[in-house]
Amino acid sequence: MKTLWQDINMHKHKTLDKDINCDILIIGGGITGINTLYELKNKDVILVEKNTIGGGITARSSAKITFLQENIYSKINNLDKAESYYECNKLAIKTLVNRINKEHINCDLEKVKSYLYTTKIENIEKIKKEQKILETFKESPQVSNILPNKMLVNYAFSVDNTYVFHPLKYLNELAYKLKDKIYEHTNIINIKNDDNLYYCYTSNNYVIKTKKVILAMFYPYFLIPFLMPFKGNLEKSYITIKKDKNKHFSAINIDDELLSIRYNKDTLITVTNSHNLCFNKNIHDYSWSNHDIITPDYLPYIGFIKNNLIIATGYNTWGMTGSVIASLIIKDIISNKENKYIALFDPKRSKSIIKYSYNIFSSMYSLIGSKLNKNKEYYNNNPIFIKDKAIYVDKSGVKHIVYNKCPHMKCTLLFNETEQTWDCPCHGSRFTIDGDTLVGPANYSIRVK
Ligand SMILES: Cc1cc2nc3c(=O)[nH]c(=O)nc-3n(C[C@H](O)[C@H](O)[C@H](O)COP(=O)(O)OP(=O)(O)OC[C@H]3O[C@@H](n4cnc5c(N)ncnc54)[C@H](O)[C@@H]3O)c2cc1C
Repeated sequence: MKTLWQDINMHKHKTLDKDINCDILIIGGGITGINTLYELKNKDVILVEKNTIGGGITARSSAKITFLQENIYSKINNLDKAESYYECNKLAIKTLVNRINKEHINCDLEKVKSYLYTTKIENIEKIKKEQKILETFKESPQVSNILPNKMLVNYAFSVDNTYVFHPLKYLNELAYKLKDKIYEHTNIINIKNDDNLYYCYTSNNYVIKTKKVILAMFYPYFLIPFLMPFKGNLEKSYITIKKDKNKHFSAINIDDELLSIRYNKDTLITVTNSHNLCFNKNIHDYSWSNHDIITPDYLPYIGFIKNNLIIATGYNTWGMTGSVIASLIIKDIISNKENKYIALFDPKRSKSIIKYSYNIFSSMYSLIGSKLNKNKEYYNNNPIFIKDKAIYVDKSGVKHIVYNKCPHMKCTLLFNETEQTWDCPCHGSRFTIDGDTLVGPANYSIRVK
């Protein structure tokens, strides 16, 4: 199922058809990869994307460009770190807006006020705490008890200089300007390191020899050296669109039941029902769903995980600015330039073992649950599981047969009736109804040949 953003014609890019060498290889053509490619465009760099530009998590985002990210500055729980993160977000917004203007990118960029609000009396103190923190950063939040769409709330404040845009119009036009350096349908299935060089092998049997690799692939498919399943859990939410001609603004609450609001032209976009992906909720009434990596300290992972191997991920559902922060930091670390924020996002920083254990527990829970339940609670008797295969019969009677184990870590897949996708309940891999990969970490299709 297409998202609102996928309703445009994207430029097509070439596919790799020979072995090549370069200084820097970026793996992944989402907003992280394309922003990073833009920053590095004067170097000997190429970007490979296994499907098409922007087709991953970015196409499923609500695409607010804001530094008001729920109560993140309270959650970071360290004022200096929170202030640094705030500064980075402000810089990211400025960088993105300047770039859109400089490159004349037509991507429905719109300046809107961002609101943080609560409809629960018991959360008023919590929201006031976030407001106070922002005031210490010299913001001037404006307090109200009503949102511009006339929704009454218990407490809200708004900030200026935040934006919304169309993420795929942005990626499409920016990628086109960098087209010489981009390869689509080029899937990296193995990376080997030898003699200070990386050898990256594609599924169509070519090798890219490179000095540095940037993993902009959202969720790396290999465990070592990053141990991703330990270092983040996945938060899933549901996006609904409907026609609405209200004055445009952007808002998000801090209550247990998430409600995030933005507009694009005459469409209202809401995000609701967020939950840990591993503890599935039976939700059907929505336009599309998405998930992102939540890190234990609410800060992204950006930087070296090994010699000349760089990662950028873990944006805690704020990757529009997070990816720009990543691109600016990567540009500096690649050029050996100082950047005072490198330590803040260092992917090798450690966090409490208790938080890591929770991530292991939740994916084990869904691994075992997926084996026991096999979709039963979701979709009655459809699909049917036979040994290692699953058969889904669609409304017109056509059978879709796939392997029912996720190639990543062998969890049993669930069929998502609303979006007509096979979804992994453990680490979020997604496949089309006929088994092609949509979202990683799984890197192989589940098609039955
Ligand atoms: C419900 C929801 C709403 C959100 N709304 C917002 C918002 O309003 N504002 C905001 O700032 N953020 C938002 N986010 C977060 C944001 O969407 C993500 O953080 C961001 O899009 C991540 O971008 P990415 O480039 O890292 O990943 P992706 O867009 O997934 O890009 C990774 C790319 O790598 C490719 N790839 C993977 N493996 C390989 C391989 N082996 N070889 C080649 N290519 C590969 C994939 O195909 C993919 O295209 C939201 C997230 C969710 C869950």
